[in-house]
Parts: sequence; C-alpha cells; structure tokens
Amino acid sequence: MFSSVVIDANLIARYGGNGPRYTSYPTADRFVEAFDAEAYRHWLHNRNVGSQTRPLSLYVHLPFCDTVCYYCACNKIVTRHHDRAAVYLATLAKEVALVSRELGADRKVDQIHLGGGTPTFFSDREIRELMEILSKGFDLNPAGEYAIEVDPRGVGEERIAHLAELGFNRISIGVQDFDPEVQRAVNRIQTVEQTFAVTDAARRHNFRSVNYDLIYGLPRQTLEGFERTLDLVCKALPDRVALYSYAHLPTVFMPQRRIALEDLPPPRIKLALMTCAIKMLGAAGYVYIGMDHFARPEDDLALAQNQGRLTRNFQGYSSGGDTDTIGLGVSAIGSIGPATIQNHKDLSEYAASVDAGCLPVMRGIEASADDLARRSVIQSLACHFRVSKESVSIAHLMDFDDYFSLEIQDLALLKEDGLVEMDDEWITVTPAGRLLVRAVCMVFDRHLREGRQRARYSRVM
Ligand code: SF4
Repeated sequence: MFSSVVIDANLIARYGGNGPRYTSYPTADRFVEAFDAEAYRHWLHNRNVGSQTRPLSLYVHLPFCDTVCYYCACNKIVTRHHDRAAVYLATLAKEVALVSRELGADRKVDQIHLGGGTPTFFSDREIRELMEILSKGFDLNPAGEYAIEVDPRGVGEERIAHLAELGFNRISIGVQDFDPEVQRAVNRIQTVEQTFAVTDAARRHNFRSVNYDLIYGLPRQTLEGFERTLDLVCKALPDRVALYSYAHLPTVFMPQRRIALEDLPPPRIKLALMTCAIKMLGAAGYVYIGMDHFARPEDDLALAQNQGRLTRNFQGYSSGGDTDTIGLGVSAIGSIGPATIQNHKDLSEYAASVDAGCLPVMRGIEASADDLARRSVIQSLACHFRVSKESVSIAHLMDFDDYFSLEIQDLALLKEDGLVEMDDEWITVTPAGRLLVRAVCMVFDRHLREGRQRARYSRVM
C-alpha cells in the first residue's frame, strides 16, 4: 500500500463523482468557435519571437481502428479500408506545411506523441512516411521522447523493432482487463500472450517506458477477475499504469449503447475494483502520481514529480517540462502560450479546411489572466498535491487569499472532511484527499462555479 495515499470509502462516495480530468484549464467544454484559424495563426507567430519561443511537443491524431471497443470514448473511425491511411497522411503533410509556414521549420521538437484511434493501423511504411513529414516541418530532437499508443493485436516483434529504429522510445498499450468474459463484453479480445509479447519486445528494443491502460467499472468485471488481471500486470511490471474509471454515457458515445446496463458492476463493486487495484499496485512498488496515474519509482514521471517539474497536458502527465503543443490531425488539441486549439472533429471538414490551405481549427480558447492564475493552481495541485500561495501571488500579481476568498471558503468544507490542510503559506492535499484531487481542483474552476450559480439561479426562477 502507498504511504502517500489513504483510501476512505466514505470520502470517495461523497467526492468521487465525475469531473474534469484537467488535462487543460479551461477545460475543452469551454472552447468557443469564435477562436478560429486567424487566432491560431496569431499565436503561432507570437510564440515564434525571442523569449516567447518554447520547445515543441507534437501530438498527432491517427483516427482509424480495425474494430470497435464498446467502452470507447475516443474520436475514431472504424474501418477495414487500410488505404484510407495513405489519404490521411497526404492531408497531414499539408497541415504540417501550413503550421511550419507560420512557425518556421527550425522549431525544435522535444516530444512526439502518436495517439488515436489506433496508430498501428498505419503500416510500417506509413509510420516512416509520417516521421519524414514531421521532420520536414520541424527540427526533431533525436534524443527526444517519442511515444506511440499500440494495440498489441496484430503487432509483432518486427513492428516494435521498426518503431525503435524510427526513434520511438515510449509505448502505451491498451489492456483494460485480461478477463476473457470482460473482453467479450467490450468486444476487445486480446490475449495475455499478445500483450506480454509486445511488452517484452519493447524492452528488448530499449524503449525507455512501457505504459498499460486499465479500466475499472467495465461490464462483467468481478473482483476475482480483476485481481487476476492485476496479478498479471504486476508480473509484467510496466513502468507506468493508467487506471481509468469507466463512465457509461451511451447518449454521448455511440459504441457504449452495445453495453447492457445490467452487466455493469454496481457502485459498491466498482469501488472495490478500484481499491483492489490501488492496493495491489502499491504493494508492487508503484508510486501514485495523481489523477488515475501510477509509475515505478525510477520512471521519469515519478522522478519529475520528486523534482517538482511534473506537468499535465492533453496526454495526461508529462515529465517534459513546459512545452507548447502542436496538435495535428482530425480533432487534435494543441496549446500554445495561453491559447488552446482544437482541430475539426469531422474528418471531411478537417480535410476540406486543409485542402483549402486553411489551418483546420474548429474551436479554441485564449486563456484570460484569471484562467492562467487558476491553471497554475490546478496544475500544482494535480501534479504536486499542494500549492504555494506566495508563488501564485507573485507570478500572477495578486493576493492569493483575497483573490480566491470564495474558493478558500469552499475549501474549508473539504478541510473539515480531511481532504486538504491549509495554513498561511500552503494548501496541501492530504493522503486521504489525493485520490480525490480532482474534487480539490474543481473548487478553483471558475467555469464550474458559474455553471452551478446559473443552475441555482434558474432553479430559483
Ligand atoms: S478504444 Fe482505442 S482501439 Fe478501441 S475503438 Fe476506441 S480508439 Fe479504437
């Protein structure tokens, strides 16, 4: 068990409901369509001068999948037509040219993340072509962090060797649950052997980090079955584990309509699944990083947290410091300075925009001074479980206690419940509050507060 985390079932029942993951602040539901291609172009230029220049991180969204997993909440296109990958790459090449025309092709890239969908839907030749496209548009640091999400079904040793040759050194593997009964219920049959073979191959080819994604709360999941999954995970000992809670929202995510409500574990079992996972990962030596993430103590994420340089971005936690992120591909999200930008979610709109020579922006937001102050508080809580009032006051030219007086009032309730401690200098999330750090961050989310006030107002009316 972790020394830094206390599991309190009562607190989890009260504070563990759905909430933003704060991979950005303001959160994506606040993006506006008034933020357009022109606004993005402005920020690309603005970050290209003198001290504004930051190292870049590239996120490339590769949306295709061979089959659909019923729990899926990603932006993906399920197709058997592999020739769609080549057409998509041609569009990506045009988008890269549009961005690098604004930024200049000499901008250093320290991190690349290929996500999806299923990036390995693309063949070896196509992934190589993608890397060539990126290297034409940017100055790729050969010693940078290159990460890829891999579906082990259909990926063998040669594919992993090829990825290593292209410079990939981090791999994320979707596991979810090894229980065959659960796998059938979510339409994702993936053997332990397939997962372990990819893990072993990544290690043989010197990948610096292997991540497993797990989900609790899936249909047909039982405590015994999930324990067996966790046993296997602890045997494989990936460097990182992401443990997500399944949120059943069939009106929003179409594939989830194929999941029968009566197959979902009741809240009591869901809590037991989470508790079991946390205990077993703790016993196996993992460090709890925060919001759904665990890492081996020697992994970069744990080291970055110890050294105070952990950050949070659209891919979760990052040890890469403060970079600007360029999102490429359909629905991709990037962030540059105070601006956050999302590309068109619809493939034909995305492609039409790029073909017309226009940055394919669907929406975005330019953070206000208030948003930036709140972003720094939320980042600090999410990454380090504490925030220095003085640092925020100095960085944002304000008096923390005055500025956040409403939030401090709300935090008093969380303090009474044992989630936080407060003194003149620090707000600190307690061991019992760490699993619920999202609820602490939500106190500082002005947009949520305004939403609650509007709801109260309309109820009164
Ligand atoms: S979970 Fe991943 S592999 Fe499954 S359908 Fe969604 S994007 Fe595709």
